[in-house]
Amino acid sequence: MQTIFLFHKKGKNKYSIPACDSIQGDEIPRSMLRDDLTLVDVSEVDVVRHYRKLSSLNFGVDNGMYPLGSCTMKYNPKINDVVAMLPQFAMQHPATIEETGQGALHMMYQLQQMLCQITGMHNFSLSPAAGAHGELTSVMIIKKYFETKGEKRNILLIPDSAHGTNPASVAMCGFEVKEIPSDSDGDVDLTKLEDALNEHVAAMMLTSPNTLGLFDRNILKIADMLHSKGALFYCDGANLNAVVGKVRPVDMGFDIMHVNLHKTFSTPHGGGGPGAGPIGVVEKLAPFLPVPIIEKADRYYLQYNRPLSIGRIHSFFGNFMVMLRAYTYIMMLGSDGLRNVAEHAVCNANYLRTKLCNHFQVPYNRICMHEFVINDEGLPNGITTNEVAKRLLDYGFHAPTVYFPLIVHGAMMIEPTETEHRDTLDAFADAMLTIKKEAAQNPALLKKAPVTTPVRKVDAVLAARKPVLKWDD
Ligand SMILES: *Cc1c(COP(=O)(O)O)cnc(C)c1O
Repeated sequence: MQTIFLFHKKGKNKYSIPACDSIQGDEIPRSMLRDDLTLVDVSEVDVVRHYRKLSSLNFGVDNGMYPLGSCTMKYNPKINDVVAMLPQFAMQHPATIEETGQGALHMMYQLQQMLCQITGMHNFSLSPAAGAHGELTSVMIIKKYFETKGEKRNILLIPDSAHGTNPASVAMCGFEVKEIPSDSDGDVDLTKLEDALNEHVAAMMLTSPNTLGLFDRNILKIADMLHSKGALFYCDGANLNAVVGKVRPVDMGFDIMHVNLHKTFSTPHGGGGPGAGPIGVVEKLAPFLPVPIIEKADRYYLQYNRPLSIGRIHSFFGNFMVMLRAYTYIMMLGSDGLRNVAEHAVCNANYLRTKLCNHFQVPYNRICMHEFVINDEGLPNGITTNEVAKRLLDYGFHAPTVYFPLIVHGAMMIEPTETEHRDTLDAFADAMLTIKKEAAQNPALLKKAPVTTPVRKVDAVLAARKPVLKWDD
């Protein structure tokens, strides 16, 4: 892989940067001014070709199916980018005053309202920059809620199928994590929950539907059990794509939740960002939301006067461009369209599960929601999940999420999303069956796959132990 620095040749670029005469006096301290910068000397065409080439080496949703379970890698309608690139939005400075920023505030206010409608929550804050950030913000709210009530509660309950960010957010806020096992159906084990529940429990954090792609059939019972002990019920909303427009988290008994705008409501987010993780709360938790909240009187304004608020958790107002894309996506689909998203996502996952379950182990093989989990049990010649995942790239598919959730050994978590056509699902299933045949007939090939990609199999252990993080190392 070449970096742009390899095209450097002194004097190759013909641009000249005029001497800077606009800096007056000591605006920049003398000690920090430099005569020479290590800029690369490359021509414009070098730059364009280099980055165009790099962009084609990567795999993305625009290249092929990306069934990365729990991440909801759906196709991103291009209209979202068109709207996000409108100069009226893109060029607006975050410090714009309220009077001239009414259009941006209008969009944010409407998005807050739409999220309230979709989830049934009373208020939303758009500030958190990701799902994990939404979790952290929510746990801070939970903490402040009980402090304000004068109750000492120091435990949060988390099922063993949870995403790693859940216990991390909880621990960062100084709570103790108590893990609740799943039962043999993949639901929360109610007996274990009963045993763990006491007056020290502040809340339970549950992903709904859960990371096995299953809707917990006891959800209302769990909510009752928590509420009867004065605890709160938190929804990790990363899997909202499965139920959006069909059922509202508030009706499942949740008091507080985050939504991953970059999953359920599109926005390209491979490689870690950007994202937005707005949080919604029932009325009694609303006073604790972070500032600012967008409110409306004769015009839109930013409300900072919230005495019980946990304070500010992001500079300015959050990731505005992600909000714009989510807003556009929701407006384009409307409520019928959103319901359709959930129905197709669930239908696609069950179609694929049914096709694969005769050839691969499906540990919790029942009607699933938007995703399902298979494992590597019984694959010939000891071929592993990792080897199947790498070989899929040779057939033009991104790998599913692997080795998660942790409660399934050798897990492959497949989320086709609503945007894939049946032909693509069939092609994916065919590729999986071909790989299974290869595992029997040519295991050596699987061990060195992928063999057709620009970057071949990476030595993951070496990459973790001796990471090279600088281009000129
Ligand atoms: C993606 C995900 C998260 C974390 O969200 P980020 O936006 O990546 O921070 C939390 N829980 C579940 C179940 C997820 O899938």
